[in-house]
Amino acid sequence: MADSSTGELHARVGVDDGAAASWRGSSLRVMARRVDSEPWPLETASTAPLWIDRLDPPVAPRPGLDGDMDVDVAIVGGGFSGLWTAYYLKRLEPALRVAVLERHHCGFGASGRNGGWAVGELAGSVSDYARRSSPSESLALMRAVFDAVDEIGRVAAAEQIDCDYAKGGTIRVARTDPQAERQAAEIAEARSFGLTEDEIRLLGPDEARELLNATEVRSGILLGPSAVVDPAKLALGLACATEASGVEIYEQTGAAGIGGGAVQIAAEGARGSPAGRGRCEVRAPVIVRATEAYTRDLRGQRRDILPVYSRMIATEPLPDEIFDDIGLVNRPSFADDRRMVTYGQRTADNRIAFGATGVPYSFGSRIVPAAETHSGMHHRIWRVLAEMLPQLADARITHRWGGVLGIPRNWLPGVRFDPHTGEGVLGGYVGEGVAASNLAGRTMAELIAERDTERTSLPWVGVTSRRWEPEPLRWLGVRASRALLGVADHREQRSDRPDRLLSGIARLLRGGH
Ligand SMILES: Cc1cc2nc3c(=O)[nH]c(=O)nc-3n(C[C@H](O)[C@H](O)[C@H](O)COP(=O)(O)OP(=O)(O)OC[C@H]3O[C@@H](n4cnc5c(N)ncnc54)[C@H](O)[C@@H]3O)c2cc1C
Repeated sequence: MADSSTGELHARVGVDDGAAASWRGSSLRVMARRVDSEPWPLETASTAPLWIDRLDPPVAPRPGLDGDMDVDVAIVGGGFSGLWTAYYLKRLEPALRVAVLERHHCGFGASGRNGGWAVGELAGSVSDYARRSSPSESLALMRAVFDAVDEIGRVAAAEQIDCDYAKGGTIRVARTDPQAERQAAEIAEARSFGLTEDEIRLLGPDEARELLNATEVRSGILLGPSAVVDPAKLALGLACATEASGVEIYEQTGAAGIGGGAVQIAAEGARGSPAGRGRCEVRAPVIVRATEAYTRDLRGQRRDILPVYSRMIATEPLPDEIFDDIGLVNRPSFADDRRMVTYGQRTADNRIAFGATGVPYSFGSRIVPAAETHSGMHHRIWRVLAEMLPQLADARITHRWGGVLGIPRNWLPGVRFDPHTGEGVLGGYVGEGVAASNLAGRTMAELIAERDTERTSLPWVGVTSRRWEPEPLRWLGVRASRALLGVADHREQRSDRPDRLLSGIARLLRGGH
């Protein structure tokens, strides 16, 4: 095997085979054959994100800005955060001149390449926000995110955005005893905050396998407020709906900095503006930063948000019989409950799109497109999927891709708007931003328009975070914490006993979360 990380895979598959084989011998034999033989199933896969690759017509970026401009509100970033802000703001204040400035094309970033989980969860847990406010306010925040899941469906229907929205919940299975223990504790905590059985429920192994027939299932959690979408269709459809409402969208327009009541647009060829026409300025009394992982490119903001890679693979469209075995009947999103995050969905055309975090971070917060398509990481994700669902071991992988998500130092997403300076910031979703960005954008619009609503006083409004440490501390902390979590998962899988020491150290390294 040319790739050293792929070589490591061979060894690890040997370790894991025993546990999985006890469940379904025949499928596992297929998988073992596949794993041991050449070629690897990913070799012919396209490295374009599935969702972008399938767009019909294909993406055609809007023209860039080519001169100075004055607007009422300038929004930097054309992902979900920026677009939802613009969409709701124009509805609240139709007379405002609102412009979205996007470096590539709307949906270029995480919004167009994610797992499509519009899930009623926030990166900060209900207890994190309760510590900062009160249990009832934290519960109100969680229920507002639940509502955002429905709101996305409502807007998609009203604006005729065909984004394959399906609200089938999320099923997370525990595949080791420590994972099952954590699920029971999570449900106990959810109940103590007042979440109902309809919202979140613990399932026994049989009930869980009905939804997702994975290997080694010990228990499951079904989260009701959760939908799946095709994220690129949603992002590009939302851009069209927003534009139709009167918002101006300038693509191929990269901001070099924000300050002094203006957004400085990078000149053509300068970093951050692949096709900008020349250096110019957008002056606005209100400027919103919605740049998430790419914030590191803005002057003076390199350490505000940590860019972290997540990567995905997608199978070819699969025959219905496979789903007779796997389940996923109402297209719930799915994962197992290891510490390293995994996420999957059955797409509207019967593929499995599946992702995971791997080697997550490049020194100096660099964002390197080649790292998004690191083949060793994709092989590893394929192996996790095939081990969890051996029924897929022979499926052709047609796409493999990656993207960057953004993590603030306190690991808490939030919405901030200062009416005195006119500066707004939203994001820091960590990896749970599809539904959360709807709530964040809607809240940002209401704050700018000075509306008091049930959203504008939620406990994530006004959350601030300190900056990340300078290098090499940042790199050392993040890499060590990820490595320890990976080892903790592996040891738990082998021993079926919780590895609290390693995961505790990992949590300390990443700042207590
Ligand atoms: C592989 C992957 C899988 C994920 N899966 C899920 C999932 O299943 N469910 C979930 O809830 N979340 C998921 N996430 C996270 C989720 O996609 C993000 O939290 C969410 O899309 C963030 O939206 P955003 O608009 O804030 O940021 P982005 O979508 O990253 O948008 C930022 C935009 O700003 C533009 N931009 C940046 N800098 C500048 C500049 N200087 N000038 C002009 N424009 C600029 C970028 O080009 C980009 O289009 C995933 C993320 C990744 C990478």
